Amino acid sequence: MSTESALETVRGLPVHVVRKPIKNLHVGVYPPDGRVRVAAPEGLSADAVRVAVVRKLGWIRRQQARFREQARESRRDFVSGETHYYLGRRYLLRVVEAPARPRVRIAGRYLELTCRSGATREKRAEILEGWYREQLKQFIPALVAAWQPKLGVEVADWRVRRMKTKWASCNPATRRLWFNSELAKKPKSAAEYLVVHELLHLLHRRHDAPFMALLDEHLPKWRSIRIQLGQLPLTRDWWPED
Ligand SMILES: [Zn+2]
Repeated sequence: MSTESALETVRGLPVHVVRKPIKNLHVGVYPPDGRVRVAAPEGLSADAVRVAVVRKLGWIRRQQARFREQARESRRDFVSGETHYYLGRRYLLRVVEAPARPRVRIAGRYLELTCRSGATREKRAEILEGWYREQLKQFIPALVAAWQPKLGVEVADWRVRRMKTKWASCNPATRRLWFNSELAKKPKSAAEYLVVHELLHLLHRRHDAPFMALLDEHLPKWRSIRIQLGQLPLTRDWWPED
């Protein structure tokens, strides 16, 4: 597909304009830094694109402010007393320094992280991240196993890794699914929704009407679950990305 793209500036705002064979112009603001991307019909004049962006300037700024806010909120130092989430519940972090194997466990309202004395912020973050990944690896197989026969699809493989902009993704060609380790912080229903969503991409690549119909049929509450998931965009979770 021949697409033309250019970086332009509208009232001081960098805007990435991509020309595509589409009917309507679409403006998107993307995390983590609030990058603005405009998909514009090939025949639309540069002025018309500019006017459309100016009209949406207020909305764009609000989206960008929200991403900045999220970035600030998600900044953690991994020290005792901080709030951290596991399966949708809040826990207080308790850092225990000990000459023992690093580990994490739930102890009442505490998420207890054991690390060696003097472990850096990065090291503590890595230990916790590894624990989230392991937790997710423990409950995803049951979800995948339960939903594959219901939807009549089968994956070749699934993996967990940390992702900045997606909760999950699917490569229909290799039939491999990826899940964001951050999902361990959300209620289990969120992981279930993403398992169903990604499995459905093996049948329908895009979020088109048949895709939505299957989602509604199998998981009628998916919209409220998606709201709980927050703002990471789920619009283009299948590969290739562009
Ligand atoms: Zn999707």
